[in-house]
This record gives sequence, C-alpha cells and structure tokens, in this order.
Amino acid sequence: MRFDILTIFPDFFTSPFTDGVVARALRSGIATAHTHDLRAFTHDRHRTVDDRPFGGGEGMVLKPQPIFDCLESLNLTSKPTRDTTHESVILLSAQGKRFTQATARRLATLDRIVLICGRYEGVDERVSQLLCDDELSIGDYVLSGGELAAAVLLDATVRLLPGVLGHADSSRYESFGEGDEQLDSPQNCHPERSAQRAVEGSASGSGDDRQPPPRTTNAAAGLLDYPHYTRPADFRGAPLPEVLAEGDHAAIRKWRRQAALAKTLTNRPDLLIPAHLSDDDREFLASLEPNDR
Ligand code: SAM
Repeated sequence: MRFDILTIFPDFFTSPFTDGVVARALRSGIATAHTHDLRAFTHDRHRTVDDRPFGGGEGMVLKPQPIFDCLESLNLTSKPTRDTTHESVILLSAQGKRFTQATARRLATLDRIVLICGRYEGVDERVSQLLCDDELSIGDYVLSGGELAAAVLLDATVRLLPGVLGHADSSRYESFGEGDEQLDSPQNCHPERSAQRAVEGSASGSGDDRQPPPRTTNAAAGLLDYPHYTRPADFRGAPLPEVLAEGDHAAIRKWRRQAALAKTLTNRPDLLIPAHLSDDDREFLASLEPNDR
C-alpha cells in the first residue's frame, strides 16, 4: 500500500514513521509513505500556501492551487473516474465522517491512499469537492492540523495489512476487532498469545501444552479487550487475578470474557448495544453491582 501525504509540515512525520510497527512495515516495503511539501507547489517568492477567507472572519485558509498542483503531480485518476476500491483521496477534517476501526479495515484493502492535511481555519472547500473521495475526522475535537490525524489513520490502517503484525488474527481479537462467533472451535484457538500462554503456563507450573490455548476476548465482535497482566504476580501489593495463574484454560477464557464485558460496561457502554452477546454475557452484566455499571 502506498500513502502520499500532502502537508505544509513534512518533517512532522519523521518521528511517527521511525519506530515500532509502522516503521517495520515501511522498512519491509509492505507499505510506503511519501510526504509532499505543499510549499514546493507554490509560485510566489514567499511560498504562500494560505489566504484570507472570503466573507471575512478570523484566520486563514489553505489555498486550493498548491494542493491541486501537488495532487496532479501524483498521477492519480481524476475524481469522477477514480476506482475507490483501489485508491482514495482523503481530507483530514474535524468536519469529516468519524474514522473508526471499521474505516481502517476498509482502507486496509486499498492500494493507494492520499491524505491531505489541513491547517489554519481549514482548506478551501473546492479541495474536498473536486479532489477528495472522503473527509475523515479522528474524533470530536479540533486539532491544530491534519498531520496528527494523518499519522493516526496511517498507523491504524498499516497495522491491519497482511504481514505487518505477527499473525493475521492479531488484529481480530482486540478492542473493536471483528472477533468471531465460533467460540469453542479448536481451529479458532488464538495463536498470538503464545508468549502470554508461556508466562501463564510456567507461572502455574502446569507445563501442559496439550490443552487448547485460551482465546482472547472469546470472541464476539464489538467489545473492548480484556485486561492484561504480566510478571510479577504481585506488584506493589496488587495481586494478579488468581485464575490467570492456575492454568485452567476454560476458566481463564470465562474470566477474560467477563472482564472484557465489565470494562466495556464501565468505559464504553454504547458498544454493548450492537455487540453480539450470549445469554451468559447478559446474565453476567445484570449481576454486576450498580457501581460497576
Ligand atoms: N475550522 C475547522 C473546524 O472548526 O472544523 C478547524 C480547523 S483545524 C484548526 C485545522 C486542520 O486540522 C483541519 O483542516 C484538519 O485538517 C485538521 N483537524 C482538526 N481536527 C481534526 C480532527 N478531529 N480530525 C481530523 N483532522 C482534524
């Protein structure tokens, strides 16, 4: 997947692209990211990218011409004939549709994404109208520029590309992941937590590799992830939930499911409404004290 990022601050992206999962994906060539300095597409001595708003009012607006020129230099198909199942031009904007994990999953199927970062009061509306397939917002707040939003979008999308995380299922069983409905199918055992299983196995002393490994959120879509623990078992007087050290995979699975439900109820009760919940899940949620709800 190729990303092109149009910005007046290309250096901004040095740090987000230098470390971690995104950097690895870029180094391996699974994704490439090219920043384009909009000032390089200006034609005046001062390399002016902004101008005063028509109609008056405070602030400045990013001019359309450098953005149009820059995009035209990238040889994309023009908007009316663009195949948006392969390529997409996106304006980062607080006025955009909400960017979610589902959006990231859709974008991860594309070959090419162009991200236009606004600044000041925003971008001349004809950029959105004539060039962009989508306007996306990363949340209900106003940033001072689209660069952070572009980095967020790129990170959330790139980690979903095949080969970026260790296993295709890694992004399936996490917060907002798709999960699945087949809770007990052995072929659905989740291989990504092998390191964690090793910790659990040795911590419990069971050493039993024959049992199916515990699933993660076990595994209905739409919940938040369950809480994670690592060594030591007792940290500053705060102990591990005992079940995690006992090696009973069915009990661990049940605990994780319930912990995910409780966390979702506490932090994001809105997610429970569309989530796939079993009768057991509903019973557990109903059993929680009002303070937990
Ligand atoms: N006047 C705009 C408004 O009220 O919606 C805010 C402009 S903001 C100061 C400057 C730029 O930051 C925007 O053009 C956009 O590119 C970016 N931006 C701000 N908030 C954003 C958000 N929540 N999601 C994505 N981009 C955002």
